[in-house]
Amino acid sequence: MKKFVSRSLILLLLSVMFAPFQLAAEPAPASTTATTEIPLSPQLNPELSGQESPSSSTALPSHSTLRPPTEIVRIAIIIDDLGYNLRRGVEVARLPGALTLAVLPHSPNGIALAELGHQQGKLIMLHTPMSNLQQLPLDAGGLTDQMTQQEFVDTLYSGLDSIPHIQGVNNHMGSYLTQLPEPMSWLMDTLAREQLFFVDSRTSPDSIAWETARDLALPTQKRDIFLDNERTAEAIGTQFDQLLRIAKRRGNAIAIGHPYPETVAFLTEVLPGLAELGVELVPVTQLIPKPALSSKPVLLEGKNSALQHRTRVLNK
Ligand SMILES: [Zn+2]
Repeated sequence: MKKFVSRSLILLLLSVMFAPFQLAAEPAPASTTATTEIPLSPQLNPELSGQESPSSSTALPSHSTLRPPTEIVRIAIIIDDLGYNLRRGVEVARLPGALTLAVLPHSPNGIALAELGHQQGKLIMLHTPMSNLQQLPLDAGGLTDQMTQQEFVDTLYSGLDSIPHIQGVNNHMGSYLTQLPEPMSWLMDTLAREQLFFVDSRTSPDSIAWETARDLALPTQKRDIFLDNERTAEAIGTQFDQLLRIAKRRGNAIAIGHPYPETVAFLTEVLPGLAELGVELVPVTQLIPKPALSSKPVLLEGKNSALQHRTRVLNK
């Protein structure tokens, strides 16, 4: 009931702000495509139940704290867990607009989907598996706290080399690894060398990934909202409302979603109408502040991997 009331208030607020436009938050269920469930990845989102929840406050900001509807606000939507299920991945890559696609390393369809997404004008990221508090097994290319620095860096480079058009990285799972200073510094140091950005998926409220990246002057940002932890049109609509509410208040917001039929159906319906709501969908790089010019990346010394892999950067 609380959720229903809160949602109604949001819709009312948005309908007042954007009259006569209505927020299309209730697409029909994707019943035609949901007949057979094909796993998207061997280790698909098993830890999302333990994630940091978005703001649980149901208090709505007053009108005065929201930006006027005439001002365009920007959102980025990262669809991750791509690379295993080809059909779902193709549907995502062909969605309209500037979505950002995050592909799992060494995944059987990762190269094809990254190529297709790139052709479709989507920004491509690597979705790197990292060890989690539940100790669930990791997909190929997973980074763990059991690795030496050399193993860690080599595994990361191997993943980066396995998918084309990579411009940045976010974590798949990682509720444990993102709490550990040393592996996070190895990760961010390598990404800095390769001039890649990092988005913290925030699978743990105790993640220090974003802070570590920021301290190394790496371009970085944090996920605000998970769109589809609950795979129903209503729940996805509620999360999307929350995304827009953050964007209206702050000027921008970042969501992460997954290639579920319900998510694809929702985005198919809602993305073409964003402009009418005063919302622009942009690649996530446009929401990542440039690090201050005065602070150069602090690079760790003594790794041979950077030289070894420098040709990869030059060939990008
Ligand atoms: Zn993931």
